[in-house]
Amino acid sequence: MNNQTDAIRVLVVDDEQDIRDGSERILTRLGLQVLKAQRGDEGLKILETEGASIVLLDLKMPGMDGIEVLERIRKLDESILVIVITGYATVETAIEAMKLGAYDFISKPFEPDQLRIVVNRAWEKIRLTREAEKLAQEKRRTLADLDTEKSRIHTIIENLPNGVMVTNTRGQVVLMNPVFRKLLDLDPGLKTGGQIEDYVPDKGFCNLVMEISQGKHVDYDDIPDYEFAIADQKYFLVKGQPVLGERKECLGAVVNIVDITAMKVMDQLKSEFVTKVSHELRSPLSTIHEQLALVIRDMLGNASEHDQHILTRAREKTQGLISLIGDLLDLSRIEEGVLCQEPQPIHLEELLENIVDFLKTRAEGKGQSLTLQLPDDPLPELTADPIALESIFGNLITNAINYTQDNGKIKVDVDMTGINVRVKVIDNGFGILGKYLDKIFDRFYRVKDDKTRYITGTGLGLPIVKGLVDSLNGFIDVESTPGQGSTFTVLLPVTDLR
Ligand code: ADP
Repeated sequence: MNNQTDAIRVLVVDDEQDIRDGSERILTRLGLQVLKAQRGDEGLKILETEGASIVLLDLKMPGMDGIEVLERIRKLDESILVIVITGYATVETAIEAMKLGAYDFISKPFEPDQLRIVVNRAWEKIRLTREAEKLAQEKRRTLADLDTEKSRIHTIIENLPNGVMVTNTRGQVVLMNPVFRKLLDLDPGLKTGGQIEDYVPDKGFCNLVMEISQGKHVDYDDIPDYEFAIADQKYFLVKGQPVLGERKECLGAVVNIVDITAMKVMDQLKSEFVTKVSHELRSPLSTIHEQLALVIRDMLGNASEHDQHILTRAREKTQGLISLIGDLLDLSRIEEGVLCQEPQPIHLEELLENIVDFLKTRAEGKGQSLTLQLPDDPLPELTADPIALESIFGNLITNAINYTQDNGKIKVDVDMTGINVRVKVIDNGFGILGKYLDKIFDRFYRVKDDKTRYITGTGLGLPIVKGLVDSLNGFIDVESTPGQGSTFTVLLPVTDLR
């Protein structure tokens, strides 16, 4: 309590000097600051100029009577606590004073302890009042802060350049910003509260948002980006995240939508350009390639070793360019969805045996073993495009041969898992660092390290494989340990192969 003393000032208003001085002594020892007045009007003046939190007021004084002084003090400042000092004969006046708002009273003559008790009580009341006021002020400030924070966040969301939508756990839309409404051509007045399907006409989008809203994606990294298009060829990229509560419980989903139409158009133009250029280059290149073969054959034995070397290198290079063009054309056809030919019944065992037989010579050229492990039970017959399947497994096995050291081992394992045929292409070759694993399926991406730098390739094989597997509604995954080898696993659904 003592840390409050310097703020507490007591005014003693009494015409008896003994009372004034005695009170001053006692109260100063309590650590209070004491002011004194012998008349009511003098006391009021001091209050106006210097102020005090507690007034000890004698009710019976010459001049202005104590009750009137009390009334004036109350008018001046209601928070001043007035303790009236009464004589035995004026108890009734004391009661009247209490009714008029005096805080307490003390009868004359009083013991030092009595004065201490009554003043301490007033002091405690002042302390509590101040504390309550401070708390109320803090609360007011916090509420004001919260209000400002809320409106700030609201303004930010409203003005974000991307579309934002928030749902609850039942998949009901609880918030949409203006950009979201605009992107999806929604009426600006359309109210929130409905199911997502009422706002976004795309089933895949609604399913994904529903799953996130219901907390089915706990791991952020496990939430796939989603692309969809609506009428007028507008394309969107969607990124969703769960909204988590304090106890990490899922409260709904927040979805961010970006308009990627311009990017898509550019992409399409780029693909068209690449396809056009590739077509234009293919015939003259093939001619050059064939003519080089003729020249090499005609010069056999007549040309110097140096010239022969140059021509052979030139032919290898044109071969590389022809494969690059072939890959580019394949990719653009996959993107257009036209690579797959008419599906036909396929025995995967036979198809894989043929590919392995064909590539065995190449593997053996590097002293590698290439084996095929088929399941004991025959695989169900598939209905698919054989060229797509040949391209998938041809590419994977060729990569395994290319990226495995001489005398390495390459295995192709086939089995059934559920409705899927699972084909694993396993090598004990160079392996791939974890950070490159999801990049190797990107177009033109090639890992260039000491071991792979000199291996020729286009960086288009795996994108083609991925495009074909996707077009067959399959799935491809890779696991790899640098220095130990890689395993590419392809799952192809038996019932759904086209
Ligand atoms: P390319 O083989 O023409 O370079 P791909 O798209 O087929 O293109 O492969 C991309 C990259 O992935 C390769 O450059 C190589 O670094 C890596 N890669 C593919 N398969 C394997 C494998 N079996 N072992 C190690 N690295 C591989």
